[in-house]
Amino acid sequence: MQNLIDIEKITTETIGDTSYKLLIGGEWQTAAGNSTFPVDNPATGVVLSSVPDAGVRETQAAIDAASAALPGWSETPALARAALLRKVAALMLERRERLATIMTLEQGKPLSEALGEVAYAASFLSWFAGEAERIYGQVVPASAGNKRILVLRQPIGVVAMITPWNFPAAMLTRKLGPALAAGCTVVCKPAEQTPLSAIELGKLFVEAGAPAGVVNIITCQDPVPFSETIFKDDRVRMVSFTGSTEVGKLLIKQSAETVKRVSLELGGNAPFIVFDDADLDAAVQGAIDSKFRNAGQTCVCANRILVQAGIYQRFAEAFTKKVIELKVGNGLQPGTDIGPLIDLPARTKVERHIANATQGGARVLTGGTPWTGAAGREGTFWTPTVLADVTPDMLVSVEETFGPVAPLISFTHEDEAIRIANDTPYGLAAYFYTRDVSRVFRVAEKLEYGIIGANDALPSTAQAPFGGVKQSGLGREGGSFGIDEYLEVKYISIGL
Ligand code: NAD
Repeated sequence: MQNLIDIEKITTETIGDTSYKLLIGGEWQTAAGNSTFPVDNPATGVVLSSVPDAGVRETQAAIDAASAALPGWSETPALARAALLRKVAALMLERRERLATIMTLEQGKPLSEALGEVAYAASFLSWFAGEAERIYGQVVPASAGNKRILVLRQPIGVVAMITPWNFPAAMLTRKLGPALAAGCTVVCKPAEQTPLSAIELGKLFVEAGAPAGVVNIITCQDPVPFSETIFKDDRVRMVSFTGSTEVGKLLIKQSAETVKRVSLELGGNAPFIVFDDADLDAAVQGAIDSKFRNAGQTCVCANRILVQAGIYQRFAEAFTKKVIELKVGNGLQPGTDIGPLIDLPARTKVERHIANATQGGARVLTGGTPWTGAAGREGTFWTPTVLADVTPDMLVSVEETFGPVAPLISFTHEDEAIRIANDTPYGLAAYFYTRDVSRVFRVAEKLEYGIIGANDALPSTAQAPFGGVKQSGLGREGGSFGIDEYLEVKYISIGL
């Protein structure tokens, strides 16, 4: 316990100023009545800071500011918009240690992963700086000799952004990069569990010289007043959301009122298929990387591991051996592989999934219990778990577990694996391991998912169009496709 307190103290000294405010129209502001809510460390329960608890009034002020800034920003040359994004990306990398430490404190992930996320988050700003410079239109052969048709791609307008707690920086820059590159102005609302990383990013935008009102940040404990305000306001032309499918569906309904564009990155239920002909070592390592990053709290993490019967036993043994070696603890402690779950409801879900599986006949190969190591706050840590003899109908196969639990399901034929993999309303990411190149194409084309990792457990990158099909979302983030979400197409037909 002594060790823990030391870490907390050292960290507070590293971070320095921890007063956080709303960013509205280029000014740092408090919420009405100085209302705030606390942000705590999921590893320790220690309150790190408090942030303003904004409501309707502040949200409206942020929309006003974004609307006022829109004409100026959308007319700013693309080269200048790109320069701002590159400057913020450079600042993020320069302040990487500080940003990562704050992220680990509020979110719990190991510091090494937080450092990785800061670089990943910065990469979206750099990538979309390049895309800003290439928002080309078209000149189309017209229907008559005395006409000319020009196609323009213009910013959609003010965009509201709602982001989750599991990637507090990257989920925001994956939206901010393309929106600002396109010439949109934005009102962001980070998750109530992890608002500090977003405000830290806002500070960098101000430091880099972002014009007032181009980036606005609202923090609030209850997202509903914020959400109702942005959906009612006609000036907000788009809402970009990353979070659960349940909330995503609510937002689709709300978007009807003012016919807003919605871009939705929602939940997943990723299958990770290991065929008999796979490179066993690569598949085991891939499954570890995919399943246990961020303690299993990623939308693309392997939720169900399907292993062909001929390799099942060997895979289960090699995989379990590696899982046992994973080190659980406070993310700031060097060598930690698995941090805490975000909160107690997250742990309850893990417990429920394991209980349901074992009652149905699944065997626990390792883990299966809360982790109560010395540096842990009782409650949020879970021992990395492997379950064998899992069936596709168990809760752990059907729902997104969002925790460090790896269920192993055996299958016999390729078609059976594809059928089980596709038997879900979700369609975000799917993975498979094989050394057969024909199978790579065959299986990749049949999997009903937006992202396929073929012998690749970590396919996410700024260069690729991330996104899901079915109930995993609408739209794409990243790649050259990512900027289209934030652009309207207009044509001008000119009579000569
Ligand atoms: P969540 O849906 O509960 O919350 C996400 C965000 O929505 C938060 O900012 C929250 O304040 C806000 N929110 C909650 N209720 C709302 C409402 N009624 N109206 C408006 N906003 C509301 O999800 P979470 O628990 O924070 O995140 C985990 C989920 O996010 C998982 O399902 C995960 O798969 C998904 N996710 C998806 C992606 C992706 O790219 N597809 C990435 C990360 C996380």
